[in-house]
Amino acid sequence: MLKVEVDQGAGFCFGVDQVIRTAESQLSKGKTVVGLGEMVHNANEMSRLHELGFRTIKHRELDQQKSSLVLFRAHGEPPSSYQLAADNNIEIIDGTCPIVLKLQQKIRRAYASMDHEKEQLVIFGKREHPETIGLLGQVNGDAIVVSSPEESHLVDADKSVHLFSQTTMDIDLFRELEQKLQSRLSDHPTSAFRSQCTICGQMKKRKPGLKRFAKAHDVVVFVSGKNSSNGKLLYEYCLSLNVRTHWISDLSELEEQWFKDAGSIGVSGATSTSRTQLEAVSIQIKNLDLP
Ligand code: SF4
Repeated sequence: MLKVEVDQGAGFCFGVDQVIRTAESQLSKGKTVVGLGEMVHNANEMSRLHELGFRTIKHRELDQQKSSLVLFRAHGEPPSSYQLAADNNIEIIDGTCPIVLKLQQKIRRAYASMDHEKEQLVIFGKREHPETIGLLGQVNGDAIVVSSPEESHLVDADKSVHLFSQTTMDIDLFRELEQKLQSRLSDHPTSAFRSQCTICGQMKKRKPGLKRFAKAHDVVVFVSGKNSSNGKLLYEYCLSLNVRTHWISDLSELEEQWFKDAGSIGVSGATSTSRTQLEAVSIQIKNLDLP
């Protein structure tokens, strides 16, 4: 009999779960709630929220939201967003994940205590990711963003380094970057290296859990938005462990042929994929007319 299992380690991360619940709770009270930027990189989840009356606005529209509650997403915002809201008397609900808030604080403190002639702040993150934009905002953009170990050359080896990471980056790549930076700086005796691994604990646990899960099933269906960087990373990792891994963002993308001769199927997803979505995929697979 065909076995279909949903990965117990998958589902929304705590920060995303919290912000989605906040949106739902305000909407259920009949409030007009708008989100500043996409709350979660998941088109299905966003259209579910939009059906409940939620609207998504761009940053340039923030100053026009006088009669709405504006929800800031889990990834956090730079100080300029808070300032713009305050200047225009716009009511906000801060949905920034507490872990990201703490990271923003750490970065501000590190920057404030630095000798900028001799030290530099480095953030391992994706340049366009909202969390990285929020982190850069804490230091007026005065940090070097490195998005992969291959970009270690962007760092000035004549200065000391204080390295942080966006919370959703890959831990193995972070360690690789640490090594590359340390080796570059080793030729410069006056340049010291300090590193704080600020990758979220939930993210760190995902790869070891996914490794067990991907190997335990004949076929893996990985569910996430195609614009989720975390989704892409985890899907590629899953694929490297199980060649019969398929990436879908919607139920309609499931193909019966994937499950030919499969005895067990695993359903997993990114930190931006809800448990409800994963369960729905699992039910749909069970309902397929498989031989
Ligand atoms: S990945 Fe971690 S730090 Fe980032 S939003 Fe989710 S719970 Fe918060």
